[in-house]
Amino acid sequence: MVRVQTPRLNWGNLSRMRNIRRGIIHHPAAVRYSYLQVHNQHRGQGWSGAGYTHYMHKDKTAYILRGKNQGAHAAGHNHDSFGYCLEGNYDIEYVDDDLLIEFAKFVRQESAKEFALINSNFQRHRDVGSTSCPGRNFPWNRFLALVTAKEAPAPANVWMGKSGQEVRELQDKLIAVGESLPRFGADGHFGDETLLAVQSFQRKHGISSPSGRFYGVPGPATQEKLDALIIAMKDEEAEDLKNVIFWPSSPSLRESAHKMLKRAVDRDHIDKRWLDQYEKKELRMADFITLKVHIDMMPNDSDVYEVHREDWEDYTERGLVNGENQMIL
Ligand SMILES: [Zn+2]
Repeated sequence: MVRVQTPRLNWGNLSRMRNIRRGIIHHPAAVRYSYLQVHNQHRGQGWSGAGYTHYMHKDKTAYILRGKNQGAHAAGHNHDSFGYCLEGNYDIEYVDDDLLIEFAKFVRQESAKEFALINSNFQRHRDVGSTSCPGRNFPWNRFLALVTAKEAPAPANVWMGKSGQEVRELQDKLIAVGESLPRFGADGHFGDETLLAVQSFQRKHGISSPSGRFYGVPGPATQEKLDALIIAMKDEEAEDLKNVIFWPSSPSLRESAHKMLKRAVDRDHIDKRWLDQYEKKELRMADFITLKVHIDMMPNDSDVYEVHREDWEDYTERGLVNGENQMIL
């Protein structure tokens, strides 16, 4: 139960709502702004008082302002809605997850008295008006999941709202394996978008599902799967590179490579199958590189004592030459 306070305020004319059927979520777009400041500001604008029906401070104290009296929070949508406002400016700051959970509990508790806790009964101010309210960083999907959870309170996601290198690395991995972070990219903050990417990854790989306790929490199972996939991708890339066929696009390079290989075969420096492979366009780049190193170490023509292998072996056996191709005279 969230403890709710109903402060005594001076109100102008208020009218009771008859059929409350939805909740609209707001922020005051101010990092620090108490319900009293809101009330005084709105009164100053000539309104009957604070436009929101409910308000929560960052210290998690919850207030009923207009309550079931019609609010002034979303033009054209005030007659049948609660206007819940969470202190802060979520265009420039992030919602602390502890605060979000408490705010969601508050919204659940008050809404459940009037309408069903289903997605379609909750909207952001921006869904019904031209505003960014409740801010671009407000984690809407996370909030909706908390508000509409079958059992409250939903387990806390320790990653939610976190910022830093650890989050950035996780985001880099998610992107590498094909998950999308279309709006914020790898910004180092674990918000709604990262949450959805983790959930999508977990569904694809059978790690968790919407009913799972750790759905959206990148725990050990998720991290291990991410790492395994990335290692496999790197191996595959290396494998692809290894299997690239050596076949220069320029005819003159092709010709000189052929000459080089042929000469090495003729001198018995490399096996003939390499030349065959080259001629059939089957010689892999990796093998060519090894052959090339080997061929480069071949003695120059002038150093070579040109002999047929059999003769050579014969000479060696008879001790006429040493291992350096030099006649022992
Ligand atoms: Zn708003």
